[in-house]
Amino acid sequence: MTPSDIRLHNTLSRSKEPLPTGPDGTVRMYVCGPTVYGPIHVGNARPFVLFSLLKRFLQHSGYRVVLASNLTDVNDKIYAAAAREGVPSAELAERYGREYVADTDRLGLGRPDVEPRVTDAIPEIVDMIARLVDRGLAYAAGGDVYFRVREFPGYGALSGRRLEEMLDTDPGPAKEHHLDFALWKGRKDGEDTFWDSPWGPGRPGWHIECSAMAHAALGTDFEIHGGGIDLVFPHHENEIAQSEGADGCRMAKLWVHNEMLELGGKMSKSDGNIVLLRDALAEWPAEVLVMFFLRSHYRSKLPYGHDALAESARAAERIRNTVRGLDRALAAPGDQLRPALARSVAEARAKFAEALADDFNTPGALAALFEAVAAVNAAVDGADRPSEGQLQSVRTELATMLDLLGLGALAAPPGDDVPADVAALVEARAAARAARDFAESDRLRDAIRDLGYEVRDTPDGQQVGPR
Ligand SMILES: [Zn+2]
Repeated sequence: MTPSDIRLHNTLSRSKEPLPTGPDGTVRMYVCGPTVYGPIHVGNARPFVLFSLLKRFLQHSGYRVVLASNLTDVNDKIYAAAAREGVPSAELAERYGREYVADTDRLGLGRPDVEPRVTDAIPEIVDMIARLVDRGLAYAAGGDVYFRVREFPGYGALSGRRLEEMLDTDPGPAKEHHLDFALWKGRKDGEDTFWDSPWGPGRPGWHIECSAMAHAALGTDFEIHGGGIDLVFPHHENEIAQSEGADGCRMAKLWVHNEMLELGGKMSKSDGNIVLLRDALAEWPAEVLVMFFLRSHYRSKLPYGHDALAESARAAERIRNTVRGLDRALAAPGDQLRPALARSVAEARAKFAEALADDFNTPGALAALFEAVAAVNAAVDGADRPSEGQLQSVRTELATMLDLLGLGALAAPPGDDVPADVAALVEARAAARAARDFAESDRLRDAIRDLGYEVRDTPDGQQVGPR
């Protein structure tokens, strides 16, 4: 893939554009991560999956990629949650930060290259606010510092809003104008995490945190800024105003936003309308959850529910069965090259790459993958089997496509040489499931994981393999 082949939808231009690259050909991506004030919900996994796999695809296409995704560990919601749980806010954020990493690790997609935290970026944040004050774009008022929205001419370009239509997103009694938003918030009673600053003790506002962390991790004019579509206004609008106001140049070349996951309405913690990622992963294997995300385009709303997950599980199982069929055929191969199979797989591979290059169209890529699956099934089911060399090369093609989609587990050999301690836990888990003791079943799944193995629930019972 060359840069002009890969296109992505840019929220700012509202059109598909060629993949931008940095001066040295690198693609730098910054993706807004979660505020760590509780266990993350399955909706938070959508951007994690999207950008992890986009990075994988770009790397496979020959690019050097740097993916930075932050943890917001200083925020109003964290103070509130800490007060409810009766623990220091730093301790609460540290705990849920660790849990976020553990939960997303279970998706098996690796980690971003850089995962900055606000608490490590306070000097950069204070420095950026000071530059905005120097440039007349920000002002101190009553212990807070605010951004002067009317002084930034491009404000509203990303979200397509006009100033007169906007509402006050950040109330404060000392503001010059109702649209101005906080960069620094003076310390309030009960806020136990705070820092000194030229404007008095306090802590940063949410938006400036991302501007400063993105700048520290990737510099200016980086290639892609991403996140959920709910962040376009005010968060990303404000990030642009701050970063471009402070640096005098573009923040990011292209803005990629994923649509929301829905559970009979938008999934959000404040509405109490959530499924936790860890609960989803207790019910479904990671590859089924990844398959569920891939079956919809990232810019489509995605309803979360049992039927859609069960359908994804069946799709995963169809692929796994095909790989098993290939492995059985490899045990007794034919001696002929089958040109029709070679042609079908090559065509599917080309369609697969084209789909991903076209605004990361994962449903299109899956459709192409299933064309290859159908061709393989037809070839290995017949009496006249393909040669060993052809079977091997087809298996490699399938494994490569699956790995690009984060579904490599579907091509893994079945685990028949599991150590005795793992086997004992698997047996205990079968008993727990038969007794419908799902808490115990989940505990045993984690214990099996701790020993380096993954257990999957399939229609044929539990299957175990190395993690
Ligand atoms: Zn952000």
